[in-house]
Amino acid sequence: MSNDPHIPHTQLAEDAPVSCSTCAACCCQLEVMLITDTGVPERFIDNDDWGGQVMRRLDDGWCAALDRDTMRCTIYELRPLICREFEMGAPECLDERRGLDTIYR
Ligand code: SF4
Ligand code: SF4
Repeated sequence: MSNDPHIPHTQLAEDAPVSCSTCAACCCQLEVMLITDTGVPERFIDNDDWGGQVMRRLDDGWCAALDRDTMRCTIYELRPLICREFEMGAPECLDERRGLDTIYR
């Protein structure tokens, strides 16, 4: 997930290479479950309806830990395991960049 400055991908050519540095951190709108303790600060954690812990999201859907000016993760070194494993260029990433709904929402 994103830790780079971004250019909204909607402004890029169709054949532009996939890169977090040219993405509006699309994947940081997904629900992120906390399945291991990576040190995420409490203020960014919510409880879901099933008693699990998730990254807190703002009313517009983006993760509370995302810097909205730079679209960088403000807790990159402490980010959840799911964020570490979300692979740039993988089908889920491409779906998010296309603005598609996914099963993760
Ligand atoms: S959607 Fe893909 S390209 Fe965009 S920030 Fe996430 S991993 Fe990077
Ligand atoms: S913790 Fe960081 S990388 Fe993970 S969704 Fe939030 S802003 Fe994105």
